[in-house]
Amino acid sequence: MVMHRSLVLLAAVAGLNLIGAGAVSAAEEVNIYSYRQPFLIKPFLDEFTKQSGIKANVVFVNKGMVKKIESEGKNTKADGILTVDISRLTEHAKAGQLQPVKSAVVDKNIPAYLRDPDGLWIGLTRRVRVIAASKERVKPGTIKNYEDLADPKFKGKICTRSGSHVYNRALLASIIAANGEAKAEEWAKGLVANLAQKPQGGDREQVKAIKEGVCDFALINNYYFGLMKFNKDKPEQQAWADSVYLIFPNQDNRGTQVNISGVGLTKYAKNKANMIKLIEFLTGDFAQHKYAADNYEYPANPAVAIDEEIASWGKFKSDQVSLKKIADLSPTAQKIIDRAGW
Ligand code: FE
Repeated sequence: MVMHRSLVLLAAVAGLNLIGAGAVSAAEEVNIYSYRQPFLIKPFLDEFTKQSGIKANVVFVNKGMVKKIESEGKNTKADGILTVDISRLTEHAKAGQLQPVKSAVVDKNIPAYLRDPDGLWIGLTRRVRVIAASKERVKPGTIKNYEDLADPKFKGKICTRSGSHVYNRALLASIIAANGEAKAEEWAKGLVANLAQKPQGGDREQVKAIKEGVCDFALINNYYFGLMKFNKDKPEQQAWADSVYLIFPNQDNRGTQVNISGVGLTKYAKNKANMIKLIEFLTGDFAQHKYAADNYEYPANPAVAIDEEIASWGKFKSDQVSLKKIADLSPTAQKIIDRAGW
């Protein structure tokens, strides 16, 4: 009888606990707007939920995220944004949509040059602008620096997408930061004079042009090499990738230019503490490895191992000029691009 009573008591306590836990977890959630498709980020969001008890909901936003958040105003569901490129992160910041993240975990995991000094955005992956070179026609060592692309001896040998694209604008901003405005303009004009054809298409089309013999060198973001090499839907792209190798420029000086994909905490976040927990999780080992590797990028956290396949494309050192400075120099870069007709 006594035993029976205590069992009842035990069950009642357990039941209460279950109800209590259920009530907490139902309230604990975080909502993210993401440029990356939910199925790609689900695996580590599930891990986050497992570790924290916080449910992470993702809204996939294909384009126009700044406008979407602007139109939603204070009622936005987004606690945070996941997006690519320093220009887009800066756009959200300039529109007043983000608030500072102050976290010792983030500061420890992510080097300062990959974060906004005020904590408005935080880089999660590094993507580097490399030079793809024809395996058939270019001897290794022919080009070592971005600066070489303006050398008249490469006249008619180079392909790029439009200079006004954010990837090229950020690259030129990094060249301004390294060499000054006048030299950067000289470089842009020299590069344009060396182009094999008028800029057209995206980064992958430049590699296609190398495969077709139109040019020998192309500026591309490193991850496109992986996206082509393993493209099952468009196997012709595997052949494009197979026709080139990657040059990581400026290894004897400042390093290869870095752009980022990153995260920000929205100004009107309803689940601010949970979003900060998620951001901290995203800068840690588990998420860093997977988030980078899924898109053939490099972790922003230098302590996290680079995926083996991606590492096999070449070791390199990163230009550590701050991404904030790149963002600040972007308008100047665009003016140079316009004057150079790139
Ligand atoms: Fe891209």
